[in-house]
Amino acid sequence: MHIAIVEDEPKLASLLENYLTKEGYTSCVYRDGNNALDSLKNNLPDLILLDLMLPGLDGLSICRELRKSSDVPIIMLTARVEEIDRLLGLEIGADDYICKPYSPREVIARVKTVLRRTTQSGAVQLDSRFVLNESSASVSIDGQEAAVTAVELQLLKVMSDKPGQIFGRAQLMGRIYPDGRIVSDRTIDSHVKKLRQKLSALNDSVDCIHSVYGIGYKFEIIEEV
Ligand code: CA
Repeated sequence: MHIAIVEDEPKLASLLENYLTKEGYTSCVYRDGNNALDSLKNNLPDLILLDLMLPGLDGLSICRELRKSSDVPIIMLTARVEEIDRLLGLEIGADDYICKPYSPREVIARVKTVLRRTTQSGAVQLDSRFVLNESSASVSIDGQEAAVTAVELQLLKVMSDKPGQIFGRAQLMGRIYPDGRIVSDRTIDSHVKKLRQKLSALNDSVDCIHSVYGIGYKFEIIEEV
């Protein structure tokens, strides 16, 4: 696995590099935003650690630019915790955010988690029991599999990408029907209802899509014990 580190502080960059090497990853470092984007576009790594503030293009622009053509896993590194909220609000599509100062150990743990979630032939491991498989349009819990429709798959993908975040119906519609097609709130409700039926048929002790009264839905895996 090859990790690109886009970080202009040499000490931090080499610290990360050392830890990644110890964990068996190869890595390369970019210190300038413009160089990073040019090179990354043509030569995608398995994951990118992307600092927000950089000389040249900033991390935000790099992330946006890469997302136009790629789903490469991106972990954003920011200097301020308040930045994370702002970045989340902008929906730039990073896979995770880490605030400085961070311990390299924490970064490695997040790298592993993100890679686990995003690798393996379109299969996304949502938790130890729950797998979303895009290529076969199915979900599985404890190895039991159920087929889902394209819309249901998209719903799950959008919501599970931000566990705990509440999505309004309009927001979900915008993400699921990006062509701007007008569908009623009831359409989303009925897709969610069918999806929940499929999931509870697979395993009724795992509850993952929750309605939030008056607002919409959120994804959070809650296992009954
Ligand atoms: Ca920086």
